[in-house]
Amino acid sequence: MSLAESSWENNVRRVIPYTPGEQPKGKPVIKLNTNENPYPPSPRVLEAIASLDGESLRRYPDPTAEDLVRSIAKECGLDPGSVFPGVGSDDVLAMSFLTFFASGRPILFPDITYSFYDVWADLFRIPYEQKKLDPEFRIIPRDYFPENGGIVFPNPNAPTGVLLPLETIRQILERNRDVVVIIDEAYIDFAPAGSSAQSLLPEFENLLLVRTLSKSRALAGMRVGYALGAPKLIRYLNDAKYAFNSYTMNAAAIRAGRAAMEDGEWFRETIGKIVKTREASKERMRELGFRVLDSQSNFLFVTHRSVPARELFQALRQNQIIVRYFDRPRIDNYLRITVGTDEEMDALIRFLTDYLKDR
Ligand code: PMP
Repeated sequence: MSLAESSWENNVRRVIPYTPGEQPKGKPVIKLNTNENPYPPSPRVLEAIASLDGESLRRYPDPTAEDLVRSIAKECGLDPGSVFPGVGSDDVLAMSFLTFFASGRPILFPDITYSFYDVWADLFRIPYEQKKLDPEFRIIPRDYFPENGGIVFPNPNAPTGVLLPLETIRQILERNRDVVVIIDEAYIDFAPAGSSAQSLLPEFENLLLVRTLSKSRALAGMRVGYALGAPKLIRYLNDAKYAFNSYTMNAAAIRAGRAAMEDGEWFRETIGKIVKTREASKERMRELGFRVLDSQSNFLFVTHRSVPARELFQALRQNQIIVRYFDRPRIDNYLRITVGTDEEMDALIRFLTDYLKDR
């Protein structure tokens, strides 16, 4: 037997990892690359974290994160038994893939979507098929009608920001009662009221919604996310979680998450500002010759009529403005730009106006 054949490396679970957006250190930049909230979380969050003492850190946290679960349930108008908390929605999504996509049949998701889905599928050896979005980057519902092992898509979609109407979601659910359908609502709080599929939960026991406090509640640094679904789904998720790591939520995250969920006023105010800036920025970008998708999230997805996205990405970067560029088929001429403060967007537009003149 050759050395190569007997190597431990043959037994490694190999996977091509997800690439997170960069978190630059050092000199100040205008950071519009990871869809963070440009405003800080509620002051109540900082108070909650400051209230931690030696006693609360000496002990293990509450494995059920009950205080956090209750505050999420209350804010969403559901029973605590319908809520599953996790370390950001990435943790909740990973646990959901592991738990619900075990049939061996291919799961379905769009070709242009959150680029973590294929990574988890590969990691957990879940077969998958990616369904092409139409030229306007919309989901084609009938693509999701054939037999499958489960469905997952974000709404609004990422990185496009395109929102799928509830009626279309209902159509997909009606044709998929035998598999779990996961809707990743990471950005739903930036969409018009009533866009969430939460109203469909009572009708569909197989529907799981996944949300995050990273975006609309400005808590990306704390890592808090959650799933909403029928108590049966939540029980299965908890079984998988307790088979993996019982203390997923740390004491600080439980307190901070609870405080963020309880400050509805702060939440509505910051969302209002971001949506206003988003709509104004759409207009200004169009005036500069960009095609701007009608994003209902906290980012814009844009392509310029004459200047390649890759060139713009690099030019912006050299001027300390960081946006996201995906070198992938169909979207490699687009930029994803997180909606920042008005001042940050002014700086972006100023730079682009100058850079694009005569182009
Ligand atoms: N879903 C989508 C569509 C996202 O864009 C993100 C952010 N990268 C996440 C989930 C994960 O966010 P978090 O883990 O911070 O909750």
